[in-house]
Amino acid sequence: MPVTDLKNLSPDELVAFCAGLGEKPFRARQLLRWIYQRDVSDFSAMTDLSKDLRTRLAAVATVSDFAPVSVQTSRDGTRKYLFRLADGETVESVRIPMDEGRTTLCISCQVGCAMGCSFCLTGTFGLTRNLTPAEIVNQVCAARRDGPVNNIVFMGMGEPLHNLDNVIRALQILYAGEGLNYGPRRVTLSTSGLVPEMLELGRRVRVGLAVSLNATTDEVRDRLMPVNRRYPLAVLLEACRNYPLQPRERITFEYILIRGVNDTLADARRLVRLMHGVRAKINLIAYNEHSGSDFRTSCPEDVDAFQTFLLDHGLVAVRRASKGRDILAACGQLKAELDRSRET
Ligand code: SF4
Repeated sequence: MPVTDLKNLSPDELVAFCAGLGEKPFRARQLLRWIYQRDVSDFSAMTDLSKDLRTRLAAVATVSDFAPVSVQTSRDGTRKYLFRLADGETVESVRIPMDEGRTTLCISCQVGCAMGCSFCLTGTFGLTRNLTPAEIVNQVCAARRDGPVNNIVFMGMGEPLHNLDNVIRALQILYAGEGLNYGPRRVTLSTSGLVPEMLELGRRVRVGLAVSLNATTDEVRDRLMPVNRRYPLAVLLEACRNYPLQPRERITFEYILIRGVNDTLADARRLVRLMHGVRAKINLIAYNEHSGSDFRTSCPEDVDAFQTFLLDHGLVAVRRASKGRDILAACGQLKAELDRSRET
């Protein structure tokens, strides 16, 4: 019988796994508490389980764990963790200090990414593989040892909707009261715009939705984000209008401002038009320049004018600093640096 990593199982699957061992559902709740709340991975330490059950579990199951192979801390307090996976691949997470002492953890869901966005270093590597649910939640478990994590965003390496089943399993573990106990309002998933999977996500699970938009014409978006050739702006925005939202929820649209590419007042005007009928919040993000790309970050005056136009036309538009610049915190950049230093 193959050994099952219990961190790969959603809470319901853990109940079924326990049933397979002839155990009642409350055993699954006990296991969740040991694994996620008490952070224990050794069955022999799970003292409220019978000795016999602990022995049987040790024969058929395991609880995987992550320890970072490198941690970099930025001047602004952002911390970047690099984890090595069992097959030697690496994956990264970023802990970002927010206002009022709160902390957001940005996690990855794939090794590499198939979406090929031209402004993103991860996009240039292509996709190596999906992360398992365990590899997704282990990033959270490891970061929590370094201090509380209030919010979680799926905005690291990878397109979460390209790994939908495993991401949904990970969300169920994050949400479980006996598991990591995050409410859906504290978790946000960012997509490049895979429309059918986005609508499936809305049907299957509740989570904050962010859409990486970055352009106001199909011509520019085709160039920045190849996914736009499959699901152009009109199709994407129509799906956003139909996305199931709770009464006070909004969809976040991320808009990375790139000098001379998408930051003109004509863009701001088109953006206002695109958002018609969408419960939207716009995050304006400064482009994080890196040596592998010719794109440049927008001038501060252009960012001011862009934001003012949106606000004057009734949109919620917030500026997000690109944190951790000095440790290359744009997605994929730490891994790229590490790979480079290994090659030399
Ligand atoms: Fe993938 Fe996101 Fe990078 Fe696009 S921006 S290539 S979706 S990781």
